[in-house]
Amino acid sequence: MPTKPLYLYDSYLKEFEAKVEQANGNRIVLDQTAFHPLTGGVAYDIGFLEKSGTRCKVVSVEINRETKEIVHVLEGETDWKQGDVVKGFLDWERRYKLMRLHTAAHLIAAILYRDNNALVTGGQVDTEYAKLDFNLPTTDREIFVAAVAKANQEAGKDNPLKIYFVARDEALKMPGVVKLAERMPPQEKELRIVEIPGIDLQADGGPHVKNANEVGEIQLIKIENKGKNQRRAYFGVG
Ligand SMILES: [Zn+2]
Repeated sequence: MPTKPLYLYDSYLKEFEAKVEQANGNRIVLDQTAFHPLTGGVAYDIGFLEKSGTRCKVVSVEINRETKEIVHVLEGETDWKQGDVVKGFLDWERRYKLMRLHTAAHLIAAILYRDNNALVTGGQVDTEYAKLDFNLPTTDREIFVAAVAKANQEAGKDNPLKIYFVARDEALKMPGVVKLAERMPPQEKELRIVEIPGIDLQADGGPHVKNANEVGEIQLIKIENKGKNQRRAYFGVG
């Protein structure tokens, strides 16, 4: 049975209760979870699961793309079984940093698309930095410096994000909703839309901050030339 992904509805949920659906050694599937798995280029959450006062560290989280089950990989094995009720606690410091970097990545991608027609061809949001690959013919540092400066203007604004679900057909008609080159959202009946009003609109399953002003100061770390028309930018948030 698919795990209900609580993080899609509330990125700020730090604690939750759930039932064990499957327990195989150190691999636990719950009926619902706030733990975000490694998906959509955003790193997984860590934290712990607790049952009857016994805490087990969650060291990584995976999603099975076929069954949509979310697997919590624990540090050690447990004697937990199906039907057991557990509590989950996120490592909030890590998750919040991922959220800030993720929203920052959307700002930068939106600005480079708007101003330089650059499409994102890949990306990864990790705990220390985010990296984005762009389809851009030039390595001009100024392009990235300018984009980060504009992203910082956006990150300085009181601008609440809007997150909502839209029927797939409707979503795909929304201008600019899929900026990922050569990639479309997975086959889902409804798509989750993440809107940074006035700047970006995306079909996106990852956790974001509530307001652009939570991102903090975005810093350009480096730019790499990854071959013909492929430029990779690394950035962090302070
Ligand atoms: Zn995203």
